[in-house]
Amino acid sequence: MLQTLHSIIQEVNAARGLDHALKIIAKRVADSTHVDVCSVYLVDPDSQEYVLMATRGLNPESVGRVRLRFDEGLVGLVGERKEVLNLEDAEAHPRFRYFPETGEERFHSFLGAPIIHFRRLLGVLVVQQTERRRFDEEEVAFIVTMASQLSGAIAHSEASGDAQGGALPSSHSLRRRALTGVPGSPGVAMGTAMVAYSPADLYAVPDRPVKDVGREIELFTSALEGVKEEVRELADRLADAVPSDEHRLFEVYLRMLESESLTEGTIERIRGGNWASGALRESISQYVSVFDEMEDPYLRERASDIRDIGRRILMRLQLDTGDSRAIPEGTVLVGEEISASQLAEIPTDRLAGVVTARGSGNSHVAILARALNIPAVMGVSELPVGRLEGKEMIVDGYAGRIHVEPGQDVRKEYRRLLREDSELAAGLEPLRDEVAQTPCGFRMGLYANTGLMSDINASIGSGCDGIGLHRTEFPFMVRERFPGEDEQTLVYRQVLEPFAPRPVVLRTLDVGGDKPLPYFPVREENPFLGWRGIRLTLDHPEIFLTQLRAMLRANSGCGNLRLLLPMVSRMSELDETRALLERAREELEEEGVAVDMPEVGVMVEVPSAVYQAERLAESADFISIGSNDLTQYLLAVDRNNARVADLYDELHPAVLEALRQTVDAACRHDKSVTVCGAMAGDPAAAILLLGMGVTGLSMSVSSLLKVKWVIRSFSCDDASELLERALLMDDPAEIRKMLNQALDQAGLGGLIRAGK
Ligand code: PEP
Ligand code: MG
Repeated sequence: MLQTLHSIIQEVNAARGLDHALKIIAKRVADSTHVDVCSVYLVDPDSQEYVLMATRGLNPESVGRVRLRFDEGLVGLVGERKEVLNLEDAEAHPRFRYFPETGEERFHSFLGAPIIHFRRLLGVLVVQQTERRRFDEEEVAFIVTMASQLSGAIAHSEASGDAQGGALPSSHSLRRRALTGVPGSPGVAMGTAMVAYSPADLYAVPDRPVKDVGREIELFTSALEGVKEEVRELADRLADAVPSDEHRLFEVYLRMLESESLTEGTIERIRGGNWASGALRESISQYVSVFDEMEDPYLRERASDIRDIGRRILMRLQLDTGDSRAIPEGTVLVGEEISASQLAEIPTDRLAGVVTARGSGNSHVAILARALNIPAVMGVSELPVGRLEGKEMIVDGYAGRIHVEPGQDVRKEYRRLLREDSELAAGLEPLRDEVAQTPCGFRMGLYANTGLMSDINASIGSGCDGIGLHRTEFPFMVRERFPGEDEQTLVYRQVLEPFAPRPVVLRTLDVGGDKPLPYFPVREENPFLGWRGIRLTLDHPEIFLTQLRAMLRANSGCGNLRLLLPMVSRMSELDETRALLERAREELEEEGVAVDMPEVGVMVEVPSAVYQAERLAESADFISIGSNDLTQYLLAVDRNNARVADLYDELHPAVLEALRQTVDAACRHDKSVTVCGAMAGDPAAAILLLGMGVTGLSMSVSSLLKVKWVIRSFSCDDASELLERALLMDDPAEIRKMLNQALDQAGLGGLIRAGK
């Protein structure tokens, strides 16, 4: 059963658009469960009705015609209750509604399951049978599982905007739905999707319309012939080496290459308007699913041979065609995963945005996008990559959201936002040389977060008070080995020097979790709770000492270094680091290097550190709160998982309470306390942080002036009053609303971003 389920889902995922996907569902579910009817009804929110979108068994003419109000019929009842309905005699039910055009009077038993995607009802999956009987538990379980699994595939098809020509109007509001990922690089881009795919990754090949059908067929047949030749050669080479029985496998291979579903099937699809590679992907997926479904494990294994054949043909096609797509201006690069080199292939003046289905804000491509100032959204798990080529897209790198083929209203809204953003930026410019001082005279430290040379260059003239967090991971991530002491010294000096005497906080290596090193693979079931940050460096003193020595050497003559330790979860980690730092000092002094010992701070970004804030504040020289990780660990919400992105909110009262406790502890010990997570750059959240009494805020350069404006507009008393009110609220959305109102009343309405 699991096999059937997988193969249906695979086929649906490979379908061309929503209508095609639904047809596959109806046919495959009916066939595999041996029922007389399988139908899919989808919600049309515009008309508040269910529409029969596909059927196997009912009159095909009724597709698109049969419509039920939400409170009508058995389908309506399944939707209302959001649960399964299993009836032996459907007509006897008071909610039964008869549609003469379907011819369904013959079918007595009825089983309906809601299709729900992230709490949203998409439609109802129905099976029916002539015979009067209750569907058994196994059948019910299968249909429920099917409906729950299909919801993602249906949402995919809708999101790709291919509903035209179907029963739903093309303005179907699901098409206008945004897809959620996580922010990769801030900013908004409007452009046209271009799909990046790895050579020979058959399932990542997008559909693409073709003009010259004849030439495309030629390309395909010559690639096919080439692979046949290749297989014959392989067979000859092994003729003496393997027994004749096994050698027959090659004949099987050749037969597959000659099978009609591959040859004719692909040519048919090319004639239907898809390019050779896309048509090949479709044929292979369908072919694979047939084998995947077979009971015989030997035959089932053949599916992998077919995939192999597909890859071989694809490789030849790519050799013949190259990737000759013209790259227009306003290109949004889209892919399952995009490598830094794929991004680099697009001329930067034509690259408008980047969107990936996998990855996080720490993926190389996101880091590069930030360096290039290009909006990026990562981890859009529902991204229908194969169907996006050439589609209009909006990339909202602030909110971590994309819109595919957005409606007029969404476009208009984003154009307005872009206009307002640039007006706002121009309006804020005069603040650059002003100090970040509240009307009541409190001077807030405003610092920049950096990690790349481009950030440092941007920060130099930004009017910041220094660097509040320099992430040192990047030089480690882009090399093929750990960088040496001299290399590191050079990098750190480039950060320290331009800011001296302003302070620069260098954070020690924070790899592991979502920041893996290619040359130091760590396989863990639960990397976020695993070997990361200070845990890893303390376990490898040879790596840690090199970094500490490099930092101290770079500081020699600058004197503005402050050292920050990530992921501290126990007091001993601070003590052990101090001991290593002391050793590094002794070694360097023995070598004749003058050492200026830096202050050592700890990041509070793990719940245990909040509860130990008092002790940490006593021992450390300063505290820096990593609100990104702290939010993730306190709320048990993966910061890189788009599925739970709605639950990730720094304004959650539990996070605010933890922050307040930490700040209070630092203040009691008279230690500076800075927030360096993304929250510090959020104008609304900055009000609360001011109210808590933080001494500094460290953020990406692009947020500095906005937050400066907030600091210059709110007194400490006003801010702490808002904080008290916030702490009495349960709902983060309510807190945000209150803060937005406060911004608006202070004349800072321009800082309120839509969607946040
Ligand atoms: C944080 O966790 O808030 C933080 C600043 O560190 P990073 O985002 O690098 O994990
Ligand atoms: Mg962190």
